[in-house]
Amino acid sequence: MNITDIYGKFDRIGCLVFATLDKDTPQTRIAHLFACDDEGLYFRTMVTKAFYKQLKETGKVSICGMYPSTQVRHDEEGMPCFDPGYTIRATGDIKEVALETLRGKGEGDERFKLGVMDIERYPAMTTFCLHRAWGEVYDFDFDMAHRSHKLLRIPFSFGGQPVPFQGMRITDACLGCGACMDHCSFKAISQDQDQFVIDPVRCDVCGDCYTVCPNHAVEIVIEGAAASYEREGCHV
Ligand code: SF4
Ligand code: SF4
Repeated sequence: MNITDIYGKFDRIGCLVFATLDKDTPQTRIAHLFACDDEGLYFRTMVTKAFYKQLKETGKVSICGMYPSTQVRHDEEGMPCFDPGYTIRATGDIKEVALETLRGKGEGDERFKLGVMDIERYPAMTTFCLHRAWGEVYDFDFDMAHRSHKLLRIPFSFGGQPVPFQGMRITDACLGCGACMDHCSFKAISQDQDQFVIDPVRCDVCGDCYTVCPNHAVEIVIEGAAASYEREGCHV
């Protein structure tokens, strides 16, 4: 995905959740992206807001949203279900953009021109560019109404940011019993002779394979490194 594709996915959603850190406490608010170019994705806020202070102090933001419906339906058993759609998130480094720079961009792009007009109307407003980030489109069709599997996960990055691998991996400890493949409702595990492989594009990291494997051959990987799994009152 290039940056125009990424912006298009966010823009189709409209209002997005923007997360920052206030010292060590997460904070969120609703805002939107208003433009993109080769340098990144652009959004505005006012210098009078806590959002601005957090952006300046950390130099980072995380953005996410969901399309087309954020509604949770419930099936006849009362279980939550969702209409097909996608979520998208991006996390990375931001920089403040000077008004004069924005004016220059506005000469060839109506979106930046409108951004300049907005700042002229509200002088406390300023612009940020998310210029180095990684993220993912999580395209879901849980009822498999339009394809043979539930998920299509598309990782992306821009500005030189690598995409860290996060997911599940089958190790050499695999006995070849096939229990993980039988339990994977996301159809993310395939078999090639005696080798079982997880496709990260389809994998929800739901953990079913991890819990059923008789030989602890399924590994959790977070940011490229093996991680352990622990939850309150239960060590798996
Ligand atoms: S359940 Fe474990 S041992 Fe069995 S095929 Fe899957 S990874 Fe291999
Ligand atoms: S974590 Fe869940 S979705 Fe991913 S391979 Fe294992 S069982 Fe399938």
